[in-house]
Amino acid sequence: SYIITSACVDEKAADCVEACPVDCIAEGPDQYYIDPDVCISCGACETMCPVSAIYYIDDVPKEEESYIEKAVQFFNSK
Ligand code: SF4
Repeated sequence: SYIITSACVDEKAADCVEACPVDCIAEGPDQYYIDPDVCISCGACETMCPVSAIYYIDDVPKEEESYIEKAVQFFNSK
């Protein structure tokens, strides 16, 4: 799965939403979120993001790792 990190917070450019072939990027109150259960890790969203907020899960920088769990919580609470 790919993960959307802090650069998206209050940015919400949304270019990724159009790029996703499986429509698994949802708008949250503060940022967009990728549903990790649906994402096929194609990487299309990563190249579209104007603020480079999106990382493959294994490449998420240490200081951004809380966003992995944050996405899980977001979809669990829906
Ligand atoms: Fe969608 Fe592909 Fe990005 Fe996953 S990696 S969220 S499937 S565009």
